[in-house]
Amino acid sequence: MHFIFFLFRPFLWLLIFTPLLLGLTGQSTGAQNHFRVESLPKVVKQGEVYSIRAFGLISLKSLHVEFQGVRFPMAFNEEKGAYEGLIGIDMNTQPATYPIKVVGKDEGGGIYASPFSLKVEEVDFGVQKLSLPSSMVDLDKKTLERIDQETKRLTALFQVFRDERLWRGDFIRPVEGELTGAFGLRRIINEKPRSQHTGIDLEAQEGTPVLACNSGTIVLVDELFFSGKSVILDHGWGLFSMYFHLSGTQVKEGDKVNQGAVLGRVGSTGRSTNPHLHWGIRLNGARVNPLSLPGVTKTAGKIP
Ligand SMILES: [Zn+2]
Repeated sequence: MHFIFFLFRPFLWLLIFTPLLLGLTGQSTGAQNHFRVESLPKVVKQGEVYSIRAFGLISLKSLHVEFQGVRFPMAFNEEKGAYEGLIGIDMNTQPATYPIKVVGKDEGGGIYASPFSLKVEEVDFGVQKLSLPSSMVDLDKKTLERIDQETKRLTALFQVFRDERLWRGDFIRPVEGELTGAFGLRRIINEKPRSQHTGIDLEAQEGTPVLACNSGTIVLVDELFFSGKSVILDHGWGLFSMYFHLSGTQVKEGDKVNQGAVLGRVGSTGRSTNPHLHWGIRLNGARVNPLSLPGVTKTAGKIP
């Protein structure tokens, strides 16, 4: 079990969907244009990633989903003849119905916007009670300062938005192994409420290779107080994946890696009591469950 301690508050990047194919009529300075958005569920859950797809778009230069000024871009997939993108609902998004819109731009600069609403449902993430040696919990001033610096560094890292999309298609689990720490657990350590679990724990033998869940650029290789030896990938478009508690790393910052590349090995570094991989995902600031990424199997087992 491991403990991560991210201070940043949830960003309410909520997004929109509808369960049906909706006809959107563009309001543009150019020619009247019609396009359809295939939305996914009208109702979404806290802490999940959703794919969004739009069809039948004519002469559009770009398309994105917008919520509170935050853009979740979409790209045209030639094979499927549709625009595709991912949106993430932060784990602490208040359950409510939110406005959100799809925005398209045509070659001539015309803008087409269509509003939707999205209902976010509450998830019971569960509670985990743990007892740990006080040396792992009650930290001295110097350690707290180190944690503060590391938290600031990660916060800054996740705010970078890379215009280029490096991920493609389905994602894979970084290791085989049993899910031993669910996403979103509210931890009570030595009878005090502590931070929520912002990723998942996959139990695996020390030394098991840890694979990149999709293509990306390595933006952090370091040893951090809570997460131990850590690797973070930037997949572009605001999507980051992180791999914590490694026994060792096999990449360096700036490396470009493909899906399945070995990043390091499973270990128990940082605040961890047994060998496991902590796998976390950020999507435009939203802390989301890696198991909700497209293609990732929900249950323990072999990498699909
Ligand atoms: Zn964990």
